[in-house]
Amino acid sequence: MVELRNDMSSFEAVKWFFERAARALKIPTEIQELLTHSWRELTVEVPMRMDNGHVKLFIGYRVQHNGARGPYKGGIRYHPDANLDEIRALAFLMTWKTALVDIPFGGAKGGVQCRPSELSQDELNRLTRRYTGLISHLIGPTRDIVAPDMGTNAQTMAWIMDEYGQRFGYNPAIVTGKPIELGGSYGRDAATGRGVVFSLGEWARLAQRSVQGMTVAIQGLGNVGSWVAKLVGSLDCKVIAVSDSKGGVLRREGLEPEALVTYKQKNGSISDFPDSENITNDQLLELDCDILIPASIDSVISHENADRIKADIILEGANHPVTPVADDILQKKGVIILPDILVNAGGVVVSYFEWAQNIQQFRWEEERVNAELSKAMTKATGDVYKRAQKEQISMRESAYILGVSRVVKAIELRGFI
Ligand code: NAD
Repeated sequence: MVELRNDMSSFEAVKWFFERAARALKIPTEIQELLTHSWRELTVEVPMRMDNGHVKLFIGYRVQHNGARGPYKGGIRYHPDANLDEIRALAFLMTWKTALVDIPFGGAKGGVQCRPSELSQDELNRLTRRYTGLISHLIGPTRDIVAPDMGTNAQTMAWIMDEYGQRFGYNPAIVTGKPIELGGSYGRDAATGRGVVFSLGEWARLAQRSVQGMTVAIQGLGNVGSWVAKLVGSLDCKVIAVSDSKGGVLRREGLEPEALVTYKQKNGSISDFPDSENITNDQLLELDCDILIPASIDSVISHENADRIKADIILEGANHPVTPVADDILQKKGVIILPDILVNAGGVVVSYFEWAQNIQQFRWEEERVNAELSKAMTKATGDVYKRAQKEQISMRESAYILGVSRVVKAIELRGFI
C-alpha cells in the first residue's frame, strides 16, 4: 500500500487514489495487485540521425495497463520529462477514464523523452517513424490505438498511420486525432476542451450553482487549454489569465482567447500580449479567480502551493495536476475539484467516435460528434456527482469508484482469474 507523502512519484500518487477506491469497494488484495500492475510495459531505444549528421539516442515507451474492457487506448507524449513512472501513471489513469465514460477501450500511454520544440519537422518525422516501428508489434486497430498528447499532434498521428500502414497495410483506425484529410473526425481537435466545458456546465446545473460571470485562469495554452479558453465563454465565464511554458499574462477585465491563440502561434509564446500584465506560472496558479484550469504538466498543485490556491473550483484539464497531499488540503478548504479522469475525457470519447467512423468507413457531421460528446460527458458527470452526493465523498473518489468497479466487473465476466 502506498503511504501519503509529499514526495510521491506520479505512479505512487495515482495508485494512492486507486487504493482509496479499492478499499471502498472492498476489492480483494490479489485483484488490487492485478489492477495496479501493467499488462505490458515496453521501453525502446530510438536512435536517430539528426539533421547535422550526428546520431542521437532517444528513449521511448509504450505501457498497456489494462485491456479488460477493450483494446488499449492512450496518447503519445513527447516531453523531456517523459519516463516510465510517468507513462505508467498516465496509462493507469486511462483505464479508469475509458471505463468511467463507458467506451469499449482499456488504458495505455506512450511517449518519447525528447524536446519537440528543438527538433526540425524532418527530425520529428524520422523519430516518429522509428518509434512507431519499434512498438508496431504491440499496436493495432483491435489491439492498441494511439492518439496525441503533450508535444504531439495530428501531424504526428499522420506519420504513425503511414509508418504502420507501410508494414501492415492501410488502416486509419490505428490512430485517432489524425488530420481530417486522412480520416480524422470532425470535432476531435476541440474535443478535450469542449468536454471540460460540457462537464462544468452539467456540474453547475446539478449543483444548482451559477457559473455566469466567473473568472477563469488556465495554465497551458496547447490543445486542451486553447480550446477551453475559446469555449468557456459559452457558459458566460471570463478568461482573465493564461500561461504556457514561458510564463503567463493577466487581464482582470478579460482576455480575448482567439487573439491569444493567434498571438502565440505568431510569437511562439504569449508573453507581452498587448493590454495585459506578464505573470509567472506560479502566480497564475495562486491567482484570485473563481475557476482554475491546469492544462499542462503533472503535479503542478502540490503541498508547496495548495494552501495558497484561491480558486473555488478546479477543473483538471491536465492529467494528474494535483498531488494526493494537495488534494487533501484543497478538500479541507472546500475547493470543488472535477477530476482528470472525468473532466478531460472528451478527447478519448471523440477518439472512440473517430475509431468507430474509420471502422464503418463513414464520416459523421460535426454536429453529431458534438451532440454525442455532450451526451457522454453529461452522463458521466451526472454519475460522478450523484454518487459523490449520495456517499458524501469527493468527486475524485466517486469517479475512481465508478471506473474501477466497471473494470473489475469486466475482469470477472471475462474470466481472467
Ligand atoms: P500541448 O502540448 O498541446 O500543450 C501543452 C501546453 O502546456 C503548452 O501551452 C505548453 O507551453 C504548456 N507547458 C508545457 N510545460 C509547461 C510548464 N512547465 N509550465 C506551464 N505550462 C507548460 O498538450 P495538450 O495536448 O494540451 O495536453 C495538456 C494536458 O492535457 C496533458 O496533461 C495531457 O495529458 C492532458 N490531456 C490532453 C488530451 C488531448 O486530447 N490532447 C486529452 C486528455 C488530457
